[in-house]
Amino acid sequence: MALSVIWVCCRLIQEALFKPPLERGRLPCRNGLVYRRGMSKSPATAPHLHRTGQNDREQPLGARALTLIRGDILALRLAPGEATSERLLEAAYGVSRTPIRQALAELIREGLVVRAERGYAIAPFDLRQLEEIFEYREVVETAAIRMACGRATPAELDALQEAVDRSLGDSTPESWFAAGLDVHVWLAELSHNRFLRDAVQDCVNRTIRARWLVASSPPARAAAHREHNAMIALVRQGDAEAAAEAVRRHTRDVRTQVMQALEASRRLFGARGFVSGDSAA
Ligand SMILES: [Zn+2]
Repeated sequence: MALSVIWVCCRLIQEALFKPPLERGRLPCRNGLVYRRGMSKSPATAPHLHRTGQNDREQPLGARALTLIRGDILALRLAPGEATSERLLEAAYGVSRTPIRQALAELIREGLVVRAERGYAIAPFDLRQLEEIFEYREVVETAAIRMACGRATPAELDALQEAVDRSLGDSTPESWFAAGLDVHVWLAELSHNRFLRDAVQDCVNRTIRARWLVASSPPARAAAHREHNAMIALVRQGDAEAAAEAVRRHTRDVRTQVMQALEASRRLFGARGFVSGDSAA
């Protein structure tokens, strides 16, 4: 009985997540966390994972597998540190070996999957790496917003503002990723420097799971929305100093919230969900 209730809940969440972006509403659970340990061991016991379906047919198989697996990792349905293999993923997603390999290669590049002794594992949260990424983000984002102050056009800022307002009710990590709607990447794009934009995108990709622990709370999303609006307004005014300071404060606040949320999630994900690696060689 309990299992069937859980299965129905998972189906509802799955349907909510994979509607087209404009139809997609909020997750039917308060904090967005739908992960349950041990549910993805085999396809028969993994009803929460996204199997390929009729609606996905227009994408090539490798890209489709990538989208589905990435979505499950970002929404923490595949837990940090969880072991997996090509065979398990093939069965769970109903896709053959070659597309799964292609998807895994990309997920390794994105830092979401790591090679393990036997096969692969969903990348654990690397606390040391996260600290370094937040330091790096502060440097590249403040540089980018300073340049944006002199280069962004009113039309570009209008488009960003509109997208930011529209995305307030859109509360899935997949939607951020799929739509590229992250305000930080968009702001960096307004620097008109593609290397700064790519650097911010890379930081966002590598912190999105941890950020989701915070951003899944409506008050946290509302606070971020206010701060994002303030940054856009400062770019519009061309006030580079104030804009850089606003980004610095926002990045530090988000870092603090993320680290607190990770501490609080230690029991949920267990020891294998976390590593604290040395600085990258
Ligand atoms: Zn933000």
